[in-house]
Amino acid sequence: VALSRSSPQKHAMKQQAKPLILAVGSGKGGVGKSTLSVGLAIALRKLGLRIGILDADIYGPSLPKLLGVESERSRYEDSKLKPVMVDDLPTLSIGYMIEPEQAVMWRGPMLVRALKKMLLEADWGNIEILIIDLPPGTGDVQLTLAQNAQLTGAVIVSTPQDIALADARKAISLFDRIEVPVLGIIENMSGFECPHCGKISDIFGHGGAEREAEKRSVPFLGSIPLDQELMAAADVGEMISRINSERTGASPITAVAR
Ligand code: ADP
Ligand code: MG
Repeated sequence: VALSRSSPQKHAMKQQAKPLILAVGSGKGGVGKSTLSVGLAIALRKLGLRIGILDADIYGPSLPKLLGVESERSRYEDSKLKPVMVDDLPTLSIGYMIEPEQAVMWRGPMLVRALKKMLLEADWGNIEILIIDLPPGTGDVQLTLAQNAQLTGAVIVSTPQDIALADARKAISLFDRIEVPVLGIIENMSGFECPHCGKISDIFGHGGAEREAEKRSVPFLGSIPLDQELMAAADVGEMISRINSERTGASPITAVAR
């Protein structure tokens, strides 16, 4: 208020445009939401955009481990929660506030409070897109976001199997109910790339998500094969360097981001 009274232009300059908010969801756990949230963030940044990642999985945060920064701690500065910067990428996770082995045993209201702090009280800087890595399910986190954030759109991740697709359908119906556009479906763990010959084998299934997208008239964004190197890099917190080392445009994640 003081600024706007003394200098309206200065005040206008201080105001930051609100970032677009993309939720990455699936309904089901273990299908690659967190991996793809990080992958999309890095791929979108490669396209020249300023990105932040919010790990909304309060009971099972995996962002700090994926990024290899489990010992980092978020802090408050000027009464704003400061994201942890990882390779110029602002990130927030409940994992920065608890010990790695510690279980979060909170009832709904505590979860909602923690999520709102990360969403509304954090200094995300001048990012253009905030990627929200959702937990599985259609519960407190999803509903809190629906009420407190203007989600621009949701990206649904599924593996090719019917069991995962059934939960992806539930996620799509949730986003329909809360009127958030579903930007498309990504099929993760889609086939298996032989490390020796490079051929994609269908041993793990392939194509289910594309058929589902067609049935529901939702865009199909692309498929990402099971990738041993990606999995190994995630386990040792080296996803960023793994994806950065890929040739621009050649990786499936960059293709999906485009
Ligand atoms: P979610 O967030 O949906 O629970 P994660 O992103 O944590 O799933 O992925 C679950 C596990 O699968 C992780 O160990 C991750 O490294 C691995 N993973 C995800 N996508 C792939 C892939 N395309 N190829 C190989 N491993 C993958
Ligand atoms: Mg996850």
